[in-house]
Amino acid sequence: MVMKRKTQQLDAQEDYTNPSRTRQQLPMWLQKQDLSEADLPYIHAMLSGCFSDWLEEVDGFPWLGGPIALLHPDGTLIPAEGLEESAEKLFVQWNDRDAGPTAASVSLDTCRPTLMRAEEHHHPKLKAFDSIAVPIFTRSTGIPCAVVACLLPAGTANAGDLKLLQSAALHIRSGIYRHFENLFVGGMLRERKLSKKEESRRDILFDVMRRLNAHIDVEHVLSEVLDSLEQLYPICKADLYLSQDYNSPNEKVKPLAFHLQDMDLCKTAFLEGKIREEQSGGRHRLALPLSGKQGVYGVLRLDLPVNEFDEADINFLSMLAGSAGAAFEKAKMHEQANVLVGELRLINELTQRLNSSLKLSDTMQFASAELLHIFHSDFCCILQLDAIAQQFVVMSANVAEMIGETYSKDYGFCGVMWSTKEPIILSDYCSATPVASQLMDVTHSRSLLASPLLLNGEVIGAVMITKREANHFSYDNYKLLQVLSAHLGLAMSNATLHAAVRRMVITDNLTGLYARHYLNERIGRKQLRDSSGSLIVVDIDHFKRINDTYGHQVGDNILIHVSEIIRTSIRDSDIAARWGGEELAIYLPLLGLEQTERVAERIRQRVEFETNPQVTVSCGISEWRLADDKVSVESLFYKADMALYEAKHQGRNCIVVG
Ligand code: GH3
Ligand code: MG
Ligand code: MG
Repeated sequence: MVMKRKTQQLDAQEDYTNPSRTRQQLPMWLQKQDLSEADLPYIHAMLSGCFSDWLEEVDGFPWLGGPIALLHPDGTLIPAEGLEESAEKLFVQWNDRDAGPTAASVSLDTCRPTLMRAEEHHHPKLKAFDSIAVPIFTRSTGIPCAVVACLLPAGTANAGDLKLLQSAALHIRSGIYRHFENLFVGGMLRERKLSKKEESRRDILFDVMRRLNAHIDVEHVLSEVLDSLEQLYPICKADLYLSQDYNSPNEKVKPLAFHLQDMDLCKTAFLEGKIREEQSGGRHRLALPLSGKQGVYGVLRLDLPVNEFDEADINFLSMLAGSAGAAFEKAKMHEQANVLVGELRLINELTQRLNSSLKLSDTMQFASAELLHIFHSDFCCILQLDAIAQQFVVMSANVAEMIGETYSKDYGFCGVMWSTKEPIILSDYCSATPVASQLMDVTHSRSLLASPLLLNGEVIGAVMITKREANHFSYDNYKLLQVLSAHLGLAMSNATLHAAVRRMVITDNLTGLYARHYLNERIGRKQLRDSSGSLIVVDIDHFKRINDTYGHQVGDNILIHVSEIIRTSIRDSDIAARWGGEELAIYLPLLGLEQTERVAERIRQRVEFETNPQVTVSCGISEWRLADDKVSVESLFYKADMALYEAKHQGRNCIVVG
C-alpha cells in the first residue's frame, strides 16, 4: 500500500523532525501524496489509530448528545480506544447491511452529510435514534475514505448537530492526513534504509567478486571468502568445509566430514546444491553450497544471531557463495593445470637426465636425489631385483645402513610389491604396520610411498620414499610416482643392459678374461698416469699337439684352466686378458721386473703341476718406465713378444725378461 508508493528523494537539507514546522511548511510533493482507491482496503489500522487519537484529543466529543463512530467505506466499524462499549454495540448493529439504509450508508452513496430520523430506520434497535453521518473525502482525489456517524435520541437531531459533525469530520480528516504523512515518510525512510543496506551489500559483493576473480590461487580464494564474511558480519561464525582432498593452512577451512554430528545441514546443502537454513536458540544457521559449473566443492557454514539476519541476506549470501564457488573452481582448475604442466616438465627433465648417463649407479643416485626433492621427503631407496639370486639389491639410498644391502624378494614392502606389482601408499607405519621394514625402522619414518619398477610387466626393481611425519604423501603424489617409476624402470633397465653389453664387449667369451682391446685401452690410460708397469705374455707350449691329441674341447678346457690359474695368481689391480689364440697377457701396474718375474714363475709352476692333460707355458716379460725414450703399448708388447720368442727358443716352460 503506502509503502509501495514510488519513493520521493528527500532533500537532505530539510529537517523533517522539527516539531515547530507547520503543515503549510510541508513540501509540495508531500502534500500532493494522497490515498488512492487501491489503498482503501489497507487503511483500517491507520483509521483506527487516528480515530483513537482524535477521541482522546476531544475527550470523547461530548458536544453531541450521542455515541460517535468512524466507519470504513466497506461498512466496517473502525475500532478505537475510548469508544464506549455500548456505543460500539449499537454501531455494530447499525452497520449491519441487513439493517437497511442508515445515515452512514446514505451519506456514502450521496457523498453528502445525511440526517435520518428514527422512524426512517428499518432496524428495530435504531428505531430509538436519529442518525447523522458525514463522509470524509481524500484531499486531492476526492474519494470517500471514511464516514463519521453519530446516534442521537429520536427526534432530537437537527441541522446544528450535522454542522458540528461536519467540523468533527474535518478535524478527523486532518488527523488522518497527519497519520498518512507520518506513515508515508516513515515507510519511505525504511525503504531508503533498506535500499542503502542493499546498495552497500551490492558494493561489497562487487568488490568481493572482483577480488575473487583476481585470484588464481585456491588458498587466496578461500581466505577472500572468509575475510569478506568477517567484514560483513563481524559477529558471525563462518566455517568452510571442503569436500576435496585439500589441506589448507587456514584453520577455518576444514574437511567435509559427514559422519560428524552437527553436520546434517551442511550435508543436505552439499548433496542438494541448495542453501539450507535453520533457527534455534536465537541463532540462525545457514549452509551455503560452494558450487561451480562442474560440481559442488564444499559448504560455507554460517552461524549468526537471529536479529542480525534479514531475508535480503539470503540473496546476498547465495550470490557470494555462487561467486566463491565459481572462483574456487577456476582456481582449482588453474592449479590442476599447473600441476599437470609441472609434472610433465618434471617427467621430461627427469627422463632426459636419466638417459643422459648410462652408468647405472650414477643414474640411480641422480634419481634418488630428484625423488627426495620432488616429494619433499626424508629418505629414498632404489633397489634392483637380481633375478638370478632372487633378491633385491640396494642401488642407491641416503641411509648408511642400507648401502650395498640385499633383501630376499619376499621381504618387506619390496616383497609386497614383488607379488602385487602395485604401488604402496602408507599414511602411518606406526599405527598400521602391514609388514616389517628395515627402511622404516632405521629411519623412524611413518609415511611411505613406494612403487615397483616394471619392465614388460615384470618387476625389475623398486623405489621407496619415506617421511618421518605421518600422512605426508597425497594421492597426487602416489599417481606421480607411478608415472615417474615407469621412466625410472626404463632407465634402470637401459643402464643394466648397457652395463651387460659393455661387459660382453670387454670380456673374452671363452676364458672370462678381458678382451685384447680392453687391455690395450687400460695400459694406454695407465701409461698416461702411472710411472711404470710390466707385462707378462703367456703362451701355452705345443698347444697344437694338445688339440691334435685330445681334440679342441679339451684344448678349450686347458685354455680355461690356465686362465683361471692366471686370475687367481694376480692382484685385483692387475689386468689379465686373452691376447689371442692360446696367448694370454697380464699387465701389472707399478710392478718391477723382479716381482713380475716371481708372478710369472708362480703361474708357470702352477700350470705345470695343476693342468691335466699337462701343459706348460712360456712367458715373456717386458717393462716400461717414465724415463724410457718411447712409452707405448705397442713397444711394451713388442718387447714381451721378443722375450717370449726367446723363451720358446730356450726350450719352452721358462721365463725370459725382455
Ligand atoms: P708353441 O709351443 O710354439 O706355441 O706351439 P703351439 O702349437 O702352441 O703354437 P702354434 O702357434 O703353432 O699353434 C697354436 C695353436 O693353438 C693353433 C690352434 O689350434 C690352437 N688354438 C688357438 N686358439 C685356440 C682355441 O681357442 N681353442 C683351442 N682348442 N685351440 C686353440
Ligand atoms: Mg703355443
Ligand atoms: Mg702361440
